[in-house]
Amino acid sequence: MKCRVCGQDAHISLRSYNTALCSQDFISFLEKRVFDTIQKYNLIGNNDTPIVAVSGGKDSLSVWHILNKLGYKADGVYVDLGIGEYSQESLAKIKKTAEGLQRKFFVFPIRKIFEKGIDEIAKVMRRVPCSACGMIKRYAINKVCMDNGYNVLITGHNLDDEAAALLGNLLYWKEEYLWKKSPFLDGHEGHLSRKVKPLFLCSEREMAAYALISGIDYIHDECPFSINAKSLTYKNILNNLEETSPGTKLQFIKGYLKTIKGIEEKKRDISYCTTCGYPCYGGTCSMCRLLHRFHIKDRIGFEEWGSNLDITQKMMT
Ligand SMILES: [Zn+2]
Ligand SMILES: [Zn+2]
Repeated sequence: MKCRVCGQDAHISLRSYNTALCSQDFISFLEKRVFDTIQKYNLIGNNDTPIVAVSGGKDSLSVWHILNKLGYKADGVYVDLGIGEYSQESLAKIKKTAEGLQRKFFVFPIRKIFEKGIDEIAKVMRRVPCSACGMIKRYAINKVCMDNGYNVLITGHNLDDEAAALLGNLLYWKEEYLWKKSPFLDGHEGHLSRKVKPLFLCSEREMAAYALISGIDYIHDECPFSINAKSLTYKNILNNLEETSPGTKLQFIKGYLKTIKGIEEKKRDISYCTTCGYPCYGGTCSMCRLLHRFHIKDRIGFEEWGSNLDITQKMMT
């Protein structure tokens, strides 16, 4: 098989695009797709200040790498869940990437703040770890954005993530999520940053190839708590479909975006937390209630790692 662009030996075949490419041309092809996605859907504008939510995994580190390569000066934010070796290794990979990109990143250290890991916090909240984690992450990341003037939050969700979530929402007709225009959610000025997913047309397999070829050193393990069986099942179903009809996932997501164009999002009455000012559905938000319960409002803050990677502790209330 020969590369469609340069005619040398191809290293990756992309059946959904009916093409094959060598490593170098694949990198350009994927980066161009990300750039075109950003432009077409207006994900990041010239006057925006973007930040990437990094986990240490291939997708978030790759999107951070790609954005900076494309000239979007994006910093990073990491929520350190304090899950032993997994979290330490993730942090080490993020530091290494930040050093390479010469960008700074913020760390929200859950164990230092709560003096407990996410599993123990979840028990106190009577939630499963993933639910407690999601709530704390949303709050922490939004705090970093609001306190430091980042108006666009970028996440590394890829085509497979989006297609699996869409399939799940369709199967159970979760209308509340179905019309949410998931790849690009509007923010609320002064309360919540806009959320965008520049990789939503790039598949899991493409992102793994991209990280490998670009030498991005990422953590291969999944979070030990995030064994989301359902989402894996949906991904497998979609991969089986993709096997027989290449391009299915892409069509599924593109068709969705076409369909929801013009449909008004059903907006629930949103109000703002009386304590922190972030969006919530009435009264005080779950995070502020949790902080009150632990009596740790004064310790809530984040660490900022400069591009020289000297740590400076920043505690904010
Ligand atoms: Zn080539
Ligand atoms: Zn609050």
